[in-house]
Amino acid sequence: MRDLYEVLGVERSASASDLKKAYYKLAKQYHPDHNPDDKVAEDKFKEASNAYQVLSDDDQRQRYDRFGFDGIRGANGSTGASGFSNIEDIFSAFGDLFGDFFGGRSAGRRQPRGADLRVDVGLTFAEAVWGTTKEVKVTREIACAACNATGAAPGSKAEKCSTCQGRGQVVHAQGFFMVQTTCPACRGAGKQIKEPCPECRGRTTRPETTTLQVTVPAGVDDGQTLRLAGKGEAVPNGTAGHLYVVLHVQGDERFRRDGEDILTEVPVSFVKAALGGEVEIYTLDDECKGSTTIELKPGAQPGDTIVRRGQGIPRVGHAGRGDHVVQLVVEIPKKLTPRQEELMRELATELGENVREKRGLFGRKK
Ligand SMILES: [Zn+2]
Ligand SMILES: [Zn+2]
Repeated sequence: MRDLYEVLGVERSASASDLKKAYYKLAKQYHPDHNPDDKVAEDKFKEASNAYQVLSDDDQRQRYDRFGFDGIRGANGSTGASGFSNIEDIFSAFGDLFGDFFGGRSAGRRQPRGADLRVDVGLTFAEAVWGTTKEVKVTREIACAACNATGAAPGSKAEKCSTCQGRGQVVHAQGFFMVQTTCPACRGAGKQIKEPCPECRGRTTRPETTTLQVTVPAGVDDGQTLRLAGKGEAVPNGTAGHLYVVLHVQGDERFRRDGEDILTEVPVSFVKAALGGEVEIYTLDDECKGSTTIELKPGAQPGDTIVRRGQGIPRVGHAGRGDHVVQLVVEIPKKLTPRQEELMRELATELGENVREKRGLFGRKK
């Protein structure tokens, strides 16, 4: 990851207003409204926003100055700071800033956003590797369909709030000052409901338990989180929160995972290691139940690895796969038949190896 000061193009001693100016410049240059469908600009926009998010927060900036990215790593350990992965999150975090800067993408008052929800989903190893669809059951506040989220009973209408005349704000005197506050009668909605919707009692949202289909992409790993935008709780006059699906992946004793690479150990007899030959290995094909044979050259050593390029874990959201690394575990027989022992002794003689002599019937040589 690039140094955050470098991302914003400022000195480490930059003041808060220098940072804001630098971010303003970059945000304007790479703003998605000015660069539609430009992935590079979008990444630059996110990078600058992430950098500004950290450096504009005194506490996070201090930790970053002292410990670098380690100091600001999120609890999930994934990215620096909380890390914006989504443009809309940037607008909701810096909405006010963009409001001034760009003539109101977020149009003045920030819209309320519903709570985020979390569900946990268990996956088998094969499901994580190859992707799957899972059903998750969530109980959440959703926009009331009966009243179309207006809160007014069907056939009736919400009326303009008489206290604030629909402005949502009221102005009153406090000492010498005129203070503007949220209208207490309509709580800022600007509307009053005379006949509340019987389904949601005028709240505009109501709890519902739904079963959602979650598409799990191929290549996900244990502990990763999928984000379903707008599938969290709905709020009156706002946007819904997000649903976070936390993935728990079962292990598979045949495969050890290292990022996008997969490691398997394959037992090979010392004879085959010495002479070469074919060995059968497990593969990720056929829902992780596949197998194939690989050719060993004579003289293979314990711990030797054979790399099968592009046969590892699929890259999430990208083409291609990691590698499959096959490691040889050379096995020495624990017991020998008399004939095997005879041959081995012959081999020892040939190699000039001074081996332990054969024991007599009572465990002692004569
Ligand atoms: Zn309703
Ligand atoms: Zn009002």
